[in-house]
Amino acid sequence: MGKKNKQFVEKITAMEDDFAQWYTDVVKQADLVDYGQVRGTMIIKPYGYAIWENIKDELDKKFKQTGHTNVAFPLFIPESLLQKEKDHVEGFAPEVAWVTHGGEEELTERLAIRPTSEVLFCDYYSKNIHSYRDLPKLYNQWGNVVRWEKTTRPFLRSSEFHWQEGHTAHATDEDASKETNQMLTIYADLVEEYLAIPVLRGKKTDKEKFAGAKYTLTIESLMHDGKALQSGTSHHFGSGFAEAFDITYLDENGDSQYVHQTSWGLSTRIMGALIMVHGDNRGLVIPPRIAPTQAMIVPIAQHKEGVLDKAYELRDQLKDIVRVDIDASDKMPGWKFNEYEMKGIPVRIEMGPKDMEKEQVVLVRRDTGEKEFVPLTELQTRLTALLEEVQLNLYTKAKNHRDKKTSIATTIEEFSRVLYENPGFIKAMWCGDLACEEKIKEDTLATSRCIPFEQEQVADICVCCGKPAKELVFWAKAY
Ligand SMILES: [Zn+2]
Repeated sequence: MGKKNKQFVEKITAMEDDFAQWYTDVVKQADLVDYGQVRGTMIIKPYGYAIWENIKDELDKKFKQTGHTNVAFPLFIPESLLQKEKDHVEGFAPEVAWVTHGGEEELTERLAIRPTSEVLFCDYYSKNIHSYRDLPKLYNQWGNVVRWEKTTRPFLRSSEFHWQEGHTAHATDEDASKETNQMLTIYADLVEEYLAIPVLRGKKTDKEKFAGAKYTLTIESLMHDGKALQSGTSHHFGSGFAEAFDITYLDENGDSQYVHQTSWGLSTRIMGALIMVHGDNRGLVIPPRIAPTQAMIVPIAQHKEGVLDKAYELRDQLKDIVRVDIDASDKMPGWKFNEYEMKGIPVRIEMGPKDMEKEQVVLVRRDTGEKEFVPLTELQTRLTALLEEVQLNLYTKAKNHRDKKTSIATTIEEFSRVLYENPGFIKAMWCGDLACEEKIKEDTLATSRCIPFEQEQVADICVCCGKPAKELVFWAKAY
C-alpha cells in the first residue's frame, strides 16, 4: 500500500479494533449523513439519500404491483386520539415528542408528533369505511416519524427517521393474514435480492410484538459483529384497533362487522444493515442492484492527448446499460481509487494511454479487489455480468458469515458460553413462557429475535427451565 493510500484508510478505525467507531467513521467518510442540530437527528446527504431512494423505488414498485396506493397523512396526532388503543399508547408513550404551543398560545390539547400513524389511519377508516364494497383499503405512506430515543446512532436509532408505513383494512381475518404474509415476503425478497442480505423470516414472541398487534412477523439479519438487526416488520392487528376505533362495515347480508387490519414498515434502519453486513476496512460496499453509481470511470494520465475524450466516449456507450459516472477532476488517481472504494462503488473502470493502445480497459471489483483486463469490444457484456457476480458474491459471503455465526444451545450455560465465544444467532428451544424469555435476556443480554417459520427440533426441553419445549427460537444480541 502506498503512503497516500495508507493515510486515507487510516481515517477509519479498523472494524476489528472498534466496530462501533468503524461504523461511525464509515457513515461520515462515505458522506452518507451529518448530525442534525437536535441530538439524535441526522441530515441524510445526497449519497446516502440516493441509496435510500433506490431501496424506496424498488419497494414502491412492489407495493403498487400488489394493489397498494400511496397517501399522506398529517404529522400531528391529538393526544385524545393517541390514547384510544390502550396497549398501543403504552408502547409508544415514553418516546413521544409533544407540541404544546402554537406560536405564543398554549394549545388546549397537546399534539403528538407521530411516532407511527396507526391511530390516524384508524380514525380515517372509521369515517370512510361503510360497506363491504369499501374493502379492502390498501394504503401506504412514505414519511418521517419521531421517537424520542435516549441513545442514538445514525440510521440505527435516530430520534427522527424516514420510512414507509402500510395500513390496510380487510373484511376478514384471513384476508388480513394473507396481507401480513405477503408484505413480509416483499420485504424479505427486497432485502435478499437487492440488498444482498440474507434474512430469517419468522414471528415475534408476544413480548417483542408491536404494541397493539395480534402478532408481528419479522425479518432479521445478522451484522458483521454478530449482532442482529430487525430489518422489517409486518403486523396483524386482528380487530383490536377496529373495536377501539369503531371501524365497522355492513357485510353482504347487511350485518355489521369489524374490519381486520394490518400495518407494516421498513425504515432507514436498513441502511445500517447495509453498512454493517457488507462494509470492510476500506469503507462501504454497496450491492450493484441498489448502488446509485454501479461503475466509476477513472481516467489514468488524463492530461495525455485523447484520454479524456475516450473516457467520456466510454461513459456514453455504457450509460444506457449501467449507472455509470466519470471522475475527470484533477485529483490523483490514487485519491480517486480510495474515494470510490470508501463509497462502495461496485466496479471501477480504469483507462489510460496504454489501455487505449491495446483497446482495452481495466475493471476492478470493490468486493474482492480483483482486476481484469477487458477488450473494449467485450466491455458491455463483461461489465453487466461482473455486476451480477458481485451482487451474488456479496449475498453468498453474508450468508456464509451468518451460518458460521449461528450456533445451537441446549442449556443456559451453553447459551452464555457460545454467545461469548461466537457472537451471533443462537438456536434454542423455548417452552413459551415469558419468564424464561426474560431470564434469558437477564442472564445473557440476548433477546428473542424470531420464532422462525422453518422450525427444527434441536432439543426436547426449554433451554432455560427444562420443561417440554414448544418451539425453536432464534436469539441474539441486537441493535
Ligand atoms: Zn422455559
